[in-house]
Amino acid sequence: MRDILFVWDIDGTLIHCGSCGREALNDTFRELFNVDNAFKNAKIGGKMDSVVLEEIFKQHNISEDKRPLILEMYGIALKKSLDSYKNKRVLPGIKNILEFSKTNKNIYNTIATSNFEIGARIKLGVHGLDPYFLTGGFGDTAKEKWQSAIQAIKDTEKLYEIEFKKENIYIIGDTWYDIECAKKLGVKSIAVATGWVSYEDLKEYDPDFIFKDLENYQSILNTICNDW
Ligand SMILES: [Mg+2]
Repeated sequence: MRDILFVWDIDGTLIHCGSCGREALNDTFRELFNVDNAFKNAKIGGKMDSVVLEEIFKQHNISEDKRPLILEMYGIALKKSLDSYKNKRVLPGIKNILEFSKTNKNIYNTIATSNFEIGARIKLGVHGLDPYFLTGGFGDTAKEKWQSAIQAIKDTEKLYEIEFKKENIYIIGDTWYDIECAKKLGVKSIAVATGWVSYEDLKEYDPDFIFKDLENYQSILNTICNDW
């Protein structure tokens, strides 16, 4: 049996947590710099967190050395925002797939996200998913999603001492950024319409696999990994 690596996006793919991230960033900037609604127009969904932050720094003339303090405050604000958001949830089938992976020694999971690592870990932790992901690529240094995916793959290969073949790596995400990221790296893409992009719109980007959600996880795993 081949070794398979699933590279997961977080928001809209593993979990739904509304606009808690944006709210937490706004709260942080309000508290630290007295700037109201700093991230109102920021295109957070499509950009890495570090890139968004740099833009806000420039707009408000804030020095880059405030970054560690901002991240610390952001972590606290995000936890608070998530704790009070009643509609947060793990998306259908996710827990089942992750649990199934634990019983199957050929399936590995990692994270590729535009989130800062602190934000990603808090989001996963609040939803009880953190223990499933020992490795990942995050938005702290990566300027584009594919760079965080490379980081995630390398990190996982190092930890488990496995070299995954490209055809056995699957990037799973809820937007066209995730599909394009997979195409750029020459790996497989799995689009899932559990975020803010519709099934029809995702289909336009020609992913290798597309699902409305991952609820029916066993048949989905069989479809994806048809030579098990
Ligand atoms: Mg997403």
